[in-house]
Amino acid sequence: MKRAAPADPKCPSTGSASDFLPRKIELPALAQAAAKCHGCTLYCNATQTVFGEGPINAIVMFVGEQPGDQEDRAGKPFVGPSGKVLDAALQEAGIPREKTYVTNAVKHFKWEPRGQRRIHSKPSSREIAACRPWLEAEIQVVRPRVIVCLGATAAQSLLGSAFPLTQHRGEVIKDTKWAPNVLATLHPSSILRLPDHDAREAARRSFVKDMKIVAKHLRAKPRRTESAPPGALVSEPSPKRGTAASRPSRAQPAKTRAAHHGRS
Ligand code: SF4
Repeated sequence: MKRAAPADPKCPSTGSASDFLPRKIELPALAQAAAKCHGCTLYCNATQTVFGEGPINAIVMFVGEQPGDQEDRAGKPFVGPSGKVLDAALQEAGIPREKTYVTNAVKHFKWEPRGQRRIHSKPSSREIAACRPWLEAEIQVVRPRVIVCLGATAAQSLLGSAFPLTQHRGEVIKDTKWAPNVLATLHPSSILRLPDHDAREAARRSFVKDMKIVAKHLRAKPRRTESAPPGALVSEPSPKRGTAASRPSRAQPAKTRAAHHGRS
């Protein structure tokens, strides 16, 4: 991966989160390690790292763009207005929130000041790439049946920068290297930004429609190919920090992985 040149001496960065991956790829260790990540310069102006949250046996993973203002202060993903839109859509679609894992393509809040307010600023492709080892590791541990990319940045991170979200929004992409099913849709924040009530309501309904597609795939019996080990996903950490051999394999049975993470 191409790395960003370290530019600001007051805000040093290594160019990739892979330099901060822990020896053991498990959720608590990942969250702890991500709290000290200097893989790009976004940590300098954010309050804290906002790592993903949810059970290790989550059946679906939602990937947003980056934490917002409220998430940055709380240190938790999807607790602000976008999270409320997501929660309501999940409820309407019949997806149990407790079986979901929510995270972001970029783990620090990127913002610019506007008066007293902190306004969201879109992360660059370098920042998305620098942060991707955390997302890869989360996917490796959780192994969701369905990944939902919320918005263009998440889709860009997992499906490539050329992925045309508007044309393929709501389509299920099968047998990807990330999960058996990947679907991209809009980010809930884009619904909130719409200027009038009718437009917001139409966008909300179409978002719920996409969540119902997700629910349908979660209810479907897994195909045999879904249990096949998709292979290594995580970017290699620096040799001094551990090797792929020290991590649990994606091919491990769920029970073994749960035990590895101290959960039943
Ligand atoms: S945005 Fe990602 S890569 Fe950049 S410092 Fe934060 S956790 Fe590390």
